[in-house]
Amino acid sequence: MNDCLFCRIVAGSIPAKLVYEDDQAVAFEDINPQAPVHVLVIPRRHIPSVAEFGSADAGLLGQLVQACVKIARNKGIAESGYRIVTNTGPQAGQSVLHVHLHVLGGRHLAWPPG
Ligand code: 5GP
Ligand code: ZN
Repeated sequence: MNDCLFCRIVAGSIPAKLVYEDDQAVAFEDINPQAPVHVLVIPRRHIPSVAEFGSADAGLLGQLVQACVKIARNKGIAESGYRIVTNTGPQAGQSVLHVHLHVLGGRHLAWPPG
């Protein structure tokens, strides 16, 4: 989708600090990091949110989570711990309508989230 920010990042027409990519996923540093490690993992294909994942997308969702785990390992936070978050809809604060998993870590993360 031409008017989608994250599709543009996948296409390379908007710059981002890529930290990982595979055949289905791309990951890059969040522009406004909320923790020492804050990476966004997205599918190459435009899907607005997890609510639009179909039954055929179970493998894709698994691949995205595996990408998060690899990134946590590469960033050195696998042992200290990290959080994988996907905001869905307005009350959760989803601001980009291209599904993304936040990988957050490198500091203590409070629970429950605000
Ligand atoms: P949401 O609020 O939808 O859960 O998360 C969207 C995330 O995208 C935010 O954490 C925000 O900082 C990040 N973001 C928004 N625009 C850009 C951008 O142009 N580049 C990068 N790298 N991150 C962005
Ligand atoms: Zn998109």
